[in-house]
Amino acid sequence: MQYHAFIIKYAEIGVKGKNRYVFEDALVRQIKRVLSKCDGSFEISKVAGRVYIEAENFDFNETVDQLKTVFGVTGICPAVTIKRDGENRLPDLDGVTKAVLDFIDGVYPDKNKTFKVKVRRVDKRYPLDSMEMAAELGARILDAYKEMKVDVHDPEILLNVEIREKLNIFSEVIPGPGGMPIGTAGKAMLLLSGGIDSPVAGYMVAKRGVDIEAVYFNAPPYTSEKAKQKVVDLAGVIARFTGKVRLHVINFTDIQMYIYEKCPHDELTIIMRRYMMRIADKIAADNGCMGLITGESIGQVASQTMQSLMCTGEVVTDMPVYRPLIAFDKQDIVDISVKIDAYETSILPYEDCCTIFVAKHPVTKPRADIIRKHEENLLEKIDELVQTALDTDEIIEIEK
Ligand code: ATP
Ligand code: MG
Repeated sequence: MQYHAFIIKYAEIGVKGKNRYVFEDALVRQIKRVLSKCDGSFEISKVAGRVYIEAENFDFNETVDQLKTVFGVTGICPAVTIKRDGENRLPDLDGVTKAVLDFIDGVYPDKNKTFKVKVRRVDKRYPLDSMEMAAELGARILDAYKEMKVDVHDPEILLNVEIREKLNIFSEVIPGPGGMPIGTAGKAMLLLSGGIDSPVAGYMVAKRGVDIEAVYFNAPPYTSEKAKQKVVDLAGVIARFTGKVRLHVINFTDIQMYIYEKCPHDELTIIMRRYMMRIADKIAADNGCMGLITGESIGQVASQTMQSLMCTGEVVTDMPVYRPLIAFDKQDIVDISVKIDAYETSILPYEDCCTIFVAKHPVTKPRADIIRKHEENLLEKIDELVQTALDTDEIIEIEK
């Protein structure tokens, strides 16, 4: 069967009142963006709260795989569409019947299936109403294909026949990712490590239409070029959904060494995390971001107990910190990581700057007042080190 069209379903963005066009335009822009990566020629149109894609010389699987990365899409319906003729007419009942029978024959070579016909007739010039037309088409299908049986409750094939500005026939609805189209929210700064959690956190916030910029704290020579490449690749995973990600690579080595030298070792991770948050806060504000995103989840590790979260969160002054995984179990996070194709990269065994100087027994219930006190040991050089880190920010643009 050669489909030559897709009908794109979207849910949430359909209910945005006067702003609806903003959301639909963003959706169309994102669809155009992903289709520009596919072989074939595509014509995208927005008609009456619908997005249609007419496709020629295209690869079905490649096209569907790309459409599955567009946030805002809830369903991708491969379809056959028939346009109006020169006199603005759609096929008559016999013409519709022929199109439907051809569709079934093309898509379902094995006819031993149950089916139901659902008709939506917006064009009122047909003699039959939607219900009557469904019944009539159902009877004609039974007549033509003797092995097929009707099941109105749980059919194997739900045949949708729409008589709208075009005649649309489709049966399969391939789930899209849902969410809101990129470009409808704003931008946030993701603290992206090489782990499993932060890429998933970035994906989840992006899914709400948020553009993602990212920052990675690198600790050469303690962390390798491979560890950095891994983070670039993970940023690429997110860019598949958002189009592009600007990744800031911050050299954190001197700050880390200085903390190691001056502060109690059991508080090292917390103090390091506080400096990461401070620096991320600054870069985010300088780059038009409206929030920070981390992959933290309550109780996952010592640095993510509620006390630790209080300590790392309190240093952020300019914007909210979004922690989409805060109540997720690890397995739930892994499931999403696998689904978005991040997992295989995330589990590569390269050192992360958090693991190189890790204390044997890190504090699990840090107190902010004590941490603040110990940070005073850093007063002499820390501002200069932070400034140098900011000044040597390496920006990598990742486009997918
Ligand atoms: P992840 O799987 O995301 O690495 P984690 O379980 O290793 O998380 P932590 O090391 O406590 O947890 O880090 C908590 C969060 O802090 C991460 O999810 C990430 O957002 C941020 N983070 C940690 N290390 C870095 C880093 N080197 N660069 C940027 N962000 C980091
Ligand atoms: Mg980590």
